[in-house]
Amino acid sequence: MHKKLFLPGPVEVLEDVLQMQARPLIGHRSKEFSQLYEGIINRLKGLFNTDYHAFVFTSSGTGVLEGFIRNFVKERVLIPVNGSFSKRWVEAAHLNGKEVKAVEFEWGKAVRPEVVAEELKRDHYDAVMVVHNESSTGLTNPLKEIAEVVREVSPDTLILVDAVSGMLGVPLELEGWGIDAVAASVQKAFGLPPGITVAYVSPRAMERSKEVENRGMYFNFERMLEYYEKKRQTPFTPNISLFYALDYQLDRILEEGVQRRYERHRRMAEIARSWALEKFDMFPERGYWSPTITCVANTRGIPVSEFLVELGKRGYAIANGYGPLRERTFRIGHMGDLTEEDVSQLIAVMDEILKEKGW
Ligand SMILES: *Cc1c(COP(=O)(O)O)cnc(C)c1O
Repeated sequence: MHKKLFLPGPVEVLEDVLQMQARPLIGHRSKEFSQLYEGIINRLKGLFNTDYHAFVFTSSGTGVLEGFIRNFVKERVLIPVNGSFSKRWVEAAHLNGKEVKAVEFEWGKAVRPEVVAEELKRDHYDAVMVVHNESSTGLTNPLKEIAEVVREVSPDTLILVDAVSGMLGVPLELEGWGIDAVAASVQKAFGLPPGITVAYVSPRAMERSKEVENRGMYFNFERMLEYYEKKRQTPFTPNISLFYALDYQLDRILEEGVQRRYERHRRMAEIARSWALEKFDMFPERGYWSPTITCVANTRGIPVSEFLVELGKRGYAIANGYGPLRERTFRIGHMGDLTEEDVSQLIAVMDEILKEKGW
């Protein structure tokens, strides 16, 4: 039996979107591919609200975000850490030989812009790397406010953003907020299978990358842009099947409209939150609850893994807590093309299990 995915990724993908991947292949040096690619880039530029450029890499999000560190951090990067993904970028920066300053916040608490500001006053950093929507704790960081203080205190510091589980579900402005680079895997709020990642990079970040040594070859933004400008091609073989699905899904997304997509995510989150507050409690700090992932605090001490097994038997998949929060929380992803009705159905099934088990 297929389990309907309410995970923090990958997400449930619509049948017609899945089917797009089954189309016969074309060569990636063909005119047909160039047309497909150009159409995708143009619509992504529309989504990003930029006249500059958009990128599509054949990789999960981590590759592209590691690429941000390699391409846009000359020596030193500041990373506010309040969950597993921000922690991961600290590790990635170390592994790439960069000097990292991690500013720690309690998991479930939002990054405080004033603390980031203090750190930037003390020392100079090439870049600040921020996770917009922390999937491990179901928390949306105040990115706009963080970007504002970075712009004010240290105008030449680049702002690099992990918007993997946020983009299209959590409102985000790029040029408007002064963001320099942002990446999102498509297996989250884009509602696609995993394997490609979309990104935006500002012109000044592209300029800055020219001063950075050892940027590597595969995740090299300058090379990607050159190939696009010269031939409307990618330097290496892309996941053509997923490009078909993205091409199709972008039309669906634009037809719904980005604002309406945000609204739908907000309404799904409201349903999940009111259930969580009635039956348990919310894990993250009030005021920063994510519109795409609800992280429930397991205040009744139910056996989370058994709960997940019971849900699985009834055809639903949600996620346990992340790492140290494994049994203390559980997470409901409500992203992509799920609807309010889907979330309500899930809740009815969860209630049925709680009642049956006497939890
Ligand atoms: C899922 C996720 C990632 C990891 O993305 P991959 O596509 O698995 O590499 C990174 N950051 C956040 C916030 C995520 O939710």
